[in-house]
Amino acid sequence: MLDTLKQQSTLIDIRGVSRVFPKGSGEDLRVLDNVDLTIRSGEIVGLLGRSGSGKSTLLRIIAGLIAPSSGNASCRGQTIVGPPHGVAMVFQSFALFPWLTVLQNVELGLEALGIDAAERRKRALAAIDLIGLDGFESAFPKELSGGMRQRVGFARALVVHPDLLLMDEPFSALDVLTAETLRTDLVDLWSEGRLPIKSVLMVTHNIEEAVLMCDRILVFSSNPGRVAAEFKVDLPHPRNRLDPAFRQLVDNLYARMTQRPTTPPPTFENIPGPTVGMVLDHVSSNVLSGLIEALAAEPYYGRADLPVLAGQLQLEADEILHLGESLQLLRFALFHDGDLVLTEAGKRFANLETDARKKLFAEHLLAYVPVMGLIKRVLDERPSHTAPAARFRNELEDYMSEEYADETLKTIVSWGRYAELFAYDEQSETFSLENPGSDEGGG
Ligand code: ADP
Ligand code: MG
Repeated sequence: MLDTLKQQSTLIDIRGVSRVFPKGSGEDLRVLDNVDLTIRSGEIVGLLGRSGSGKSTLLRIIAGLIAPSSGNASCRGQTIVGPPHGVAMVFQSFALFPWLTVLQNVELGLEALGIDAAERRKRALAAIDLIGLDGFESAFPKELSGGMRQRVGFARALVVHPDLLLMDEPFSALDVLTAETLRTDLVDLWSEGRLPIKSVLMVTHNIEEAVLMCDRILVFSSNPGRVAAEFKVDLPHPRNRLDPAFRQLVDNLYARMTQRPTTPPPTFENIPGPTVGMVLDHVSSNVLSGLIEALAAEPYYGRADLPVLAGQLQLEADEILHLGESLQLLRFALFHDGDLVLTEAGKRFANLETDARKKLFAEHLLAYVPVMGLIKRVLDERPSHTAPAARFRNELEDYMSEEYADETLKTIVSWGRYAELFAYDEQSETFSLENPGSDEGGG
């Protein structure tokens, strides 16, 4: 009986949805691949994934802002073309109109619906009251704190009484305490049945946030994005972060997010072979050496539980995963069962002096990061021992968006400098050999 009811109340149905974006050069960028997802009335669903995994793209497809390249996205059985009725969105940044008051900003959501002025006012005031902005009706956005502005964003979405509220990392621009207050307020309102909405789809890269708020968490994998796993959260509200069941779920999610498609023994065999065209996250070599040191020292002695390590270093899941991935790429550490484990090389690195560290880092860069080898080769071969960044940027853009090519170049420059593999001049955007000829036996 309950099952039939639930089936009847399917709000959003995403079947085999893929999305590609054209790239300046070369083939298309496949951002979403064959995504299936159902959202029913009465649930808060979390979409948890790394930056760049396509979460916002999926949300924009559901919001009717962009179309899938293939597959079908429907809302209450109707294929989505343009913004569906009853779906509202809260963005990461506040997106308020600076020249309108709080009240006017909130009312705006209703104008498009053709609701008369008196009713608009009434509903806007109710939403403002509900979300804790009572008394700020005539304030302008610039007079409000970030947290208050985001409350206006929520009020503006709630005022239309949507069946589905889409939230794209709605707390990520707020400071920690403000974010926590707002999360708690929302969960309270939701569990008391006071929110004029039927369901929520929330995008986040914060594991604890997902466990705190959601009934169901979909883990999104990257490159291209697809739903890799689903976790049910059966804990009653209000949830306690220290509850062992809460911690266990956080742990499981970390393990799932660092798991590769096949569960491998801890070797490098199963890590996708790096190519010249791989995106390199910008992580400074200082941060990497700091992390290696922390991992090598007590209480970890070479192996750390990711949530524990993230907690100690005050990093979010997404950040610790980025750092861990860089270490993994460089073969200084490995993910295994939700832990980050130093390799022999990582342990060695931890015990070396600065100069020896640089040398080891350089060896690993050349051995495991193909683009570093490419740049070194080009510089070695050219009589001038210099090359413009554009030479490599073009090559990178065959594989990735401009934005990612920028990020990757930044990483190349900072790692290459630290390892003293090459120098880079910001003015002329030129790479050059640190000390040309030194490895050619004096020339
Ligand atoms: P997330 O929200 O998970 O961080 P996004 O959905 O914003 O990820 O982006 C996923 C990928 O799609 C990124 O590589 C991004 O550069 C690319 N992308 C998103 N929108 C566009 C677009 N309009 N044109 C080209 N590439 C895009
Ligand atoms: Mg996003």
